[in-house]
Amino acid sequence: MKNIIVSASKFAEHQFHCPACGSGNVVMQGRWVRSFLEQMENGVRTGLQIEQKFQPEYTGVLCRACGVHADIESDTVVAMTQELIERRKRDAGMVEAHKTDQVM
Ligand SMILES: [Zn+2]
Repeated sequence: MKNIIVSASKFAEHQFHCPACGSGNVVMQGRWVRSFLEQMENGVRTGLQIEQKFQPEYTGVLCRACGVHADIESDTVVAMTQELIERRKRDAGMVEAHKTDQVM
């Protein structure tokens, strides 16, 4: 099983489909959530507004066609992860270049 990460906005474009192969033969993972707004004044709760209905929040998708498992993360988390991967690649590239310099 191959694990990947997909951003929430990219997943929303092809909802209920595998982000890797596009198959609609998937198992969705998630949870039911209720949002709330809590009003505080000087650290004391003065108001509470709870959403009436539970809403589904999808956290992952498992493809039964290609076997890929994708974690659905916020766009911010995905951007940070990509930046980290790029940085690691750059660092690895610098190490490689350094080794080459030594040989030459
Ligand atoms: Zn797939």
